[in-house]
Amino acid sequence: MTSAPAGEYDGLVAIVTGGASGIGAAIAQELHDRGATVAVLDLDPAGAPDGTHGFAVDVTDDAAVRRAVDQVVADHGRLDVVVNNAGIGATGTVEDNSDDQWRAVLEVNVLGVVRVSRAALPYLRRSPAAAIVNVGSIAASAGLPNRALYSASKGAVQALTLAMAADHVRDGVRVNGVNPGTVDTPFVERLLASADEPDVERVRLEARQPHQRLVTPQEVAGAVAYLAGPAAASTVGAVLAVDGGMAGLRPHPQ
Ligand code: NAD
Repeated sequence: MTSAPAGEYDGLVAIVTGGASGIGAAIAQELHDRGATVAVLDLDPAGAPDGTHGFAVDVTDDAAVRRAVDQVVADHGRLDVVVNNAGIGATGTVEDNSDDQWRAVLEVNVLGVVRVSRAALPYLRRSPAAAIVNVGSIAASAGLPNRALYSASKGAVQALTLAMAADHVRDGVRVNGVNPGTVDTPFVERLLASADEPDVERVRLEARQPHQRLVTPQEVAGAVAYLAGPAAASTVGAVLAVDGGMAGLRPHPQ
């Protein structure tokens, strides 16, 4: 289900990483519904929405990322939009996670953004409508307990979004980000499944957001489609919260 404007992306080609599940699948669907040709780069592209083009790619593999990005341009003649959405979760304090766990998450959540952007930028510079949107998280700024590694990775994504925005704006490539709150996706279902009391944890996650519910993947997708599209032509270096007020309202209304 799309919030359209249908046709807004007619003729444009977009890459969505992690577009075979959850938020990424909703983004891929939204861009497709708005008229884009969409390539999904995912570890397992089987869940990519109908009408999009799936590529089996691990964003930790630089050569595979380059091959896929080159292939998208070879297939469709151009590249206009990149959505860096692929990401993995992690729980724990700094005492809990090993160096190897840190490296594994940063490889996907931070270096994945770097690799895909690096491969795409030479093509994006040729587009009259070039945009990158990085999917961060409320964890970048909220000081969430038991999320040290994940929060650090998303803090890096937010800093990277601003740095990339500054570096590439004069080349006509707009870089922005979204920071979702807790979104109802398989990612959160896995988190809940590992909780001692999943039902209690779900209620806690819902109550944590001032609007008292989980965010939907479609709400994040609408924000991404706005930021990557022509209506946001003067929006550069913005990181839009899609979190029911969690980051912006302090103290939270009770
Ligand atoms: P999800 O687990 O449902 O989907 C993630 C997708 O990324 C999967 O299809 C997976 O195969 C793919 N992926 C994972 N590692 C990959 C890799 N190395 N290379 C290529 N693809 C890979 O997760 P989601 O909830 O849709 O999360 C998407 C993004 O949104 C992530 O960056 C996540 O950190 C962020 N986010 C999620 C929430 C939430 O509450 N769900 C909140 C804030 C931010």
